[in-house]
Amino acid sequence: TSPPVRYLLHDGELIDYADARLHVLSTTTKYGVGVFEGFRAYWNDEDGELYAFRIEDHMRRLVDSMRVVEIDGPTDTAALAGQLIGLIQANELRSNLHMRTQVFVDSPDGKPDDTGPATVFMAAIPMGNYFGATGLDVQISSWARLSDRAMPPRVKSIANYQNGRLALLEAKRNGYGAALLLTESGHVAEGAGYNVFMVRQGRLCTPPSTESILEGITRDSVLQLATTQLGLDVDIRPIDRTELYSADEIFVCGSAAEVNHVTSVDRTKIGDGSAAGPITSRLQELYADAVRGRIADFGHWVTPVYGT
Ligand code: PMP
Repeated sequence: TSPPVRYLLHDGELIDYADARLHVLSTTTKYGVGVFEGFRAYWNDEDGELYAFRIEDHMRRLVDSMRVVEIDGPTDTAALAGQLIGLIQANELRSNLHMRTQVFVDSPDGKPDDTGPATVFMAAIPMGNYFGATGLDVQISSWARLSDRAMPPRVKSIANYQNGRLALLEAKRNGYGAALLLTESGHVAEGAGYNVFMVRQGRLCTPPSTESILEGITRDSVLQLATTQLGLDVDIRPIDRTELYSADEIFVCGSAAEVNHVTSVDRTKIGDGSAAGPITSRLQELYADAVRGRIADFGHWVTPVYGT
């Protein structure tokens, strides 16, 4: 099968898709040491431009992730962003994209406490929807979200991803489409690759960043859109499991997942059990506009790739 794109980037150099390699005895492959970002660029048909969404914020979080897991990698966020834009241009991509920036520790005989040599791979690949538009039936996982006492949930350490993976496998085995994880103390944390919001009695609620969640950039975008564009009251507070069962609306959000509504939790229907609720629908529309550079107040969120 042919590769989805011609080039990837390795430490700033274009390489062929097939040539992106890491040593099998590296610290990354032996011990799961690595950090990454995954996010999107959106093609806007009206102005014929491709917009990378919050690229500098993603690069900043990548650098934060490196600090937390102690990888001595690049720290110049503008330079990293520029490389990724250059990669998209080199591949001449003009459609919706998913982009990845991954920092690994590559050494032929990696030790668990090696902090380098760091190596950076980047990819930008055409990507459509992550979920269908039909809404998600979610299961509250029997796995707890990993806690900050054990692992750093707020950053994108690759080792964290076994946690959500186990929850997702369990959910799928049980006939659900997605999983939500609770903290060790039983509060709602997040899903396997997305943060969670609920609407209850007209208020938009999401857990605070101290509840074992990744500090999601989509979560932040949704919070800003909800307050500035919809004038909604927002509560950032711990959420109990049973609040979800009695929520008027629930949605999950993430760079890949975008804003996706939840139709049931543990088979308890949310809303009418099929359509997105009114607040979720408005936020989906606003998010779709924001990522394409259509909301003037949030023009700083998008970076035009071709500079038209
Ligand atoms: N939680 C986890 C565990 C994730 O992997 C992601 C995806 N990066 C999110 C939440 C959503 O974060 P963001 O909106 O920054 O993509």
